[in-house]
Amino acid sequence: MAADCIFCKIIGKEIPSEFIYEDDDMIAIRDINPKAPVHLLIIPRKHIRSINDIEAVDEALLGRMMTVAKGLAVKEGTDQSGYRVFFNVEKGGGQEVFHLHLHLVGGFDRG
Ligand code: ADP
Repeated sequence: MAADCIFCKIIGKEIPSEFIYEDDDMIAIRDINPKAPVHLLIIPRKHIRSINDIEAVDEALLGRMMTVAKGLAVKEGTDQSGYRVFFNVEKGGGQEVFHLHLHLVGGFDRG
């Protein structure tokens, strides 16, 4: 756990937040400022600053985050209409919270 990390505090339940998914390695929450009808964050319990800081030992975790994202897309009903999964990396890449998190953004009405 990193000091002054909002996502570590959410994971540690110091800040209340509804976990829509959790297991030993990660949690998922709804983004507080959603950019689309479905906007979830899949967050590893391990404090990793950004994709720049991942190591070989994290490969299984990252793979599982993708599998969890797919499962949540199905649960949220956006798997067929489509969605995006992405990491923002460091300030220039749009990252504002420096604890790794995978965005799942979907539920778009593409008519
Ligand atoms: P960006 O804001 O550019 O998407 P990040 O990739 O770092 O930057 O994403 C951080 C995300 O975390 C933002 O979408 C923001 O709305 C969300 N967020 C910040 N605080 C909370 C919180 N307490 N609960 C849920 N989502 C949060």
